[in-house]
Amino acid sequence: MIKDNLNKVNLRIRLVCSRRGVFADYLTIVAVSKGRGIAEIIEIIEAGVTNIGENKVQEALLKYGKLSALGVRLEAIKWHMIGHLQTNKAKDAVKIFDLIQSVDSVHLASEIDKQAGKINKTQDILIEIKTSPEATKFGVKPDEAIEFVKGISKFKNINIKGLMTIAPEAISPEKSRPYFSQLRKLLYEINGQRPGASELKILSMGMTNDFEVAIEEGSNMVRLGRVIFEC
Ligand SMILES: *Cc1c(COP(=O)(O)O)cnc(C)c1O
Repeated sequence: MIKDNLNKVNLRIRLVCSRRGVFADYLTIVAVSKGRGIAEIIEIIEAGVTNIGENKVQEALLKYGKLSALGVRLEAIKWHMIGHLQTNKAKDAVKIFDLIQSVDSVHLASEIDKQAGKINKTQDILIEIKTSPEATKFGVKPDEAIEFVKGISKFKNINIKGLMTIAPEAISPEKSRPYFSQLRKLLYEINGQRPGASELKILSMGMTNDFEVAIEEGSNMVRLGRVIFEC
């Protein structure tokens, strides 16, 4: 069943990409396994998923431990932290996550930098942008994003890879379009303000309800839960 869902999602993604004239390969699908069991995670890994998203550090650590104990090969798997990260969990988060998508304060960035430094890691991160006032409590305000990027660029053990946003739940995916185009424009704007610095490339936007619109608006990383795990 999960395999069928993945096939359908891939087909839908290929269709949007061909409409846009871009290759589907450039797009990363993060399978969001929050609240799902170990058996389901093994199923998606066997189906070829290599990017897994979790929204709680403790849950991710537990699952990681169980999967390792079962002998599941995790070398090729990239773990994404997509939920709000409390500063006191940064120490555990840097241990397992390849990409922390939800950095939204200088204080948190500073702690991630410190903890990553302790284990000789450069932690890849995205900045969570609050494009919509109602979607989530968290995120950097769009008009403060450039200053924010400048402010955290001094941290040596952090590598800023791009931006993430969550659009409000809407009946029609079209309602999400302005938030996604706003994030795309913001990424260009930030890159324009950082001559010489490495370009921010990742635009993590689009979930089950609105991933096709997000891809049309330039998303190259979609975070999909229900459409993969539910019938
Ligand atoms: C749960 C979650 C998702 C996946 O949502 P679906 O609607 O199930 O695809 C994506 N991103 C974040 C931040 C989430 O918390």
